[in-house]
Amino acid sequence: MHPLMMGSLSWVEYQQRLQDENAVVLIPCGALEQHGPHLPLGTDALLSTSVAQSVAEQINGIVAPTFSYGYKSQPKSGGGQHFPGTTSLDGNSLIQLLRDVVRELARQGAKQVVVVNGHYENQWFLTEGIELAIRDVGAASNLRVMRLEYWDFLTEDILNQVFPDGFPGFALEHAAVIETSLMAHYHPKLVRLDLIPDVPPVEFPSYDVFPLRPEWVPASGVLSSAKAATAEKGRMMSNHITQGIAAAIQQEFQRSAIAFGNGVAAPH
Ligand code: ZN
Ligand code: MN
Repeated sequence: MHPLMMGSLSWVEYQQRLQDENAVVLIPCGALEQHGPHLPLGTDALLSTSVAQSVAEQINGIVAPTFSYGYKSQPKSGGGQHFPGTTSLDGNSLIQLLRDVVRELARQGAKQVVVVNGHYENQWFLTEGIELAIRDVGAASNLRVMRLEYWDFLTEDILNQVFPDGFPGFALEHAAVIETSLMAHYHPKLVRLDLIPDVPPVEFPSYDVFPLRPEWVPASGVLSSAKAATAEKGRMMSNHITQGIAAAIQQEFQRSAIAFGNGVAAPH
């Protein structure tokens, strides 16, 4: 049991933690989605949870239970819905789930919430859930929410080290070097390095068609090769991501909370 996990705290402990004006509740959001033959279906949920835990350790945060289902996998970023195991929510369901959870956290006194997204297709539905929760509780509630995609904290410098031959872009990184390396770092027992398909990056048309076209996507479900993935790259990226997110939270939420608490104007 992890002491930072909200589900492991009693209500009494949770209430005490929320009384700290610097308290931050992190909500990891993932998906149940194919990630090639070498990674588990829960990869996006596992990685967003691991990243949120690493960040929570740095900032004394509380990690709420993970959103383990996400919005529908798209061919160009997740392979599409036709793979067995890819089990997804309608957009409206995801919006309403996050809206409910954020509103509930706020009702109990959480003032700072961070949504840690690990599934590309989720982002606008999570955004809408946050917008509606803030509308529900009203501006006077002082609720502040940060939404982020953890990979955006990988700077060009790190990407150059991880991809000496050139970075193919985050969308094609599905089940590729970034996710496989991070999984090899955080969850080595769940990675089958021997099963990584060696495929060139997929080239997609400049449009989408519906119903989705399974034939656009390689049968393996991998959009670019994960052959160059290593646990060491995962460790390096996870450190960088964790420090970057922790610094952003301290900058946006914790520093100003201290300043307001002391009656001192927040720094601009
Ligand atoms: Zn993924
Ligand atoms: Mn995904």
